[in-house]
Amino acid sequence: MPDVHAVIVGAGFAGLYMLHRLRRLGLSARVFEAGNGVGGTWYWNRYPGARCDVESMDYSYSFSDELQQEWKWSERYASQPEILSYINHVADRFDLHRDIQLSTRVTSATFDEAGRTWTITTDRGDRVAARFCIMATGCLSTAQVPKLPGRETFGGTTYHTGRWPHRGVDFTGQRVGVIGTGSSAIQSIPIIAAQAAHLFVFQRTPNFSVPARNAPLDPEFERQVKAAYADFRRQARESRVGFVVERSEASALAVTPDERRREYEKRWSRGGLGFTATYVDLLTNQEANDTAAEFCREKIRAAVRDPTVAALLAPKDYPVGTKRMCVDTGYYETFNRDNVTLVDIRRSPIEAITPAGLRTREAAYALDSIVFATGFDAMTGALLGIDIRGRGGRTLNDAWSEGPQTYLGLAVAGFPNLFAVTGPGSPSVLSNMIVSIEQHVDWIADCLEAMRARGHETIEATAAAQDAWVAHVNEIGHATLYPRANSWYMGANIPGKPRVFMPYIGGVGAYRQICDRVAAKGYDGFTLAGA
Ligand SMILES: Cc1cc2nc3c(=O)[nH]c(=O)nc-3n(C[C@H](O)[C@H](O)[C@H](O)COP(=O)(O)OP(=O)(O)OC[C@H]3O[C@@H](n4cnc5c(N)ncnc54)[C@H](O)[C@@H]3O)c2cc1C
Repeated sequence: MPDVHAVIVGAGFAGLYMLHRLRRLGLSARVFEAGNGVGGTWYWNRYPGARCDVESMDYSYSFSDELQQEWKWSERYASQPEILSYINHVADRFDLHRDIQLSTRVTSATFDEAGRTWTITTDRGDRVAARFCIMATGCLSTAQVPKLPGRETFGGTTYHTGRWPHRGVDFTGQRVGVIGTGSSAIQSIPIIAAQAAHLFVFQRTPNFSVPARNAPLDPEFERQVKAAYADFRRQARESRVGFVVERSEASALAVTPDERRREYEKRWSRGGLGFTATYVDLLTNQEANDTAAEFCREKIRAAVRDPTVAALLAPKDYPVGTKRMCVDTGYYETFNRDNVTLVDIRRSPIEAITPAGLRTREAAYALDSIVFATGFDAMTGALLGIDIRGRGGRTLNDAWSEGPQTYLGLAVAGFPNLFAVTGPGSPSVLSNMIVSIEQHVDWIADCLEAMRARGHETIEATAAAQDAWVAHVNEIGHATLYPRANSWYMGANIPGKPRVFMPYIGGVGAYRQICDRVAAKGYDGFTLAGA
């Protein structure tokens, strides 16, 4: 007999809501969380400037009207400390802490076919039998640090943005090196530059970034949203990306250059992620995309005084929007400071970390601190970090040796009663993730309830349904420009990782309909078995 109905791994937005939903169904659950607090992403990523780039009225739970009415966000985009206090408030308000075991990493999950249970073990010696194992382990939770020789010899201090010390870091008077120029780097660089004696930014690939235009939350906007929150949320659920942006149905090539410029300017001055929705074909037609990319490059040239530095900061070899778009406050202008140096490590790669700093092929840099803003083993890293064994003892590592294979991003053939929240093959990182998390958690909870009502004990994706889904995800991914970039969506930031476009690009609204249809047809594409 299982000890609990479900083990949930992870206590971020996904794990907490999963626990709440199972409780409401009267099902027992236990949550294991590696961190020493709840919050996931917002517990770990405490680097200076860490902030959400989906607007706060959107990036929050919708499952409780009381919660969404009573919580007050202070800014257009919430900062990490504010999101973390929101998550802690949710955990308190819904009395979630009593089923969560912190500072405990799940190390293995093994399916016992005869007993139809998962046995979950942890690094603290726990061993729990559960009917279901629900992975709420996060898409961006496995910090990635490049394997550079000499790292252990460094005489200063190293940090990773995704594992930032809770006490904070004061860089005053220091020579600091930031390695990487993705989203976390772009958020933190302006703040570190304002503190440090000198900041060296080591860039391999430049990123496109749009201004955030962050500001205190407009009370009138808040009032309007709260007065019609249900409708606001419905529109977000039915949208492409999980929040409503003004979306044009026109081709970028069907309008005059002047008109196009006016429209890009309008979006640029509004700020935020709506920029790539300016025209319908920006992410499917290279020529259309070039118009938006060139507009962004012009903005970079206008912001950065030194033309050589501006040229280095301007991406040229992939379409805009096909690597995660960044959202910044004063990023490009930071390179006008006398105490900031941009180092091109594409041309002159880092060869080693040294006791005094680091060495590229061309020069040595003396540093007191090194910040790795080098991202995550995205989407699969946390799942493959656990020794998961399904039917016949087959490991997930083996099943995914050529890239992740799932049905709907929720389940894997050969791994009965295992669910992944926002797994590869679902919209996940291409969306407002709270919308995607709530949708998956609701779907899983409804599924468990339906199984209980019908006396089913196991559910397993069929290989045929999985193959068809993987083919569909690939087909629509490859109909866009996304695969043209060496991005973490493709696994390209991890040496040796199979190149597969992992998220589902069909949009959260369309995806929700597919999942709902699967459930309505009695879990089409799954095999259900009784006791
Ligand atoms: C810097 C940053 C900014 C972001 N900004 C946005 C944004 O603007 N908009 C947006 O939609 N999304 C954003 N995201 C994505 C963000 O990850 C999601 O929005 C959301 O927080 C994910 O919640 P989650 O619960 O699925 O995963 P997480 O928050 O990642 O939580 C997963 C938890 O599982 C735990 N875990 C993993 N493996 C194990 C194990 N083996 N044993 C025990 N515990 C384990 C981890 O410690 C972690 O706490 C951002 C991510 C980062 C890193």
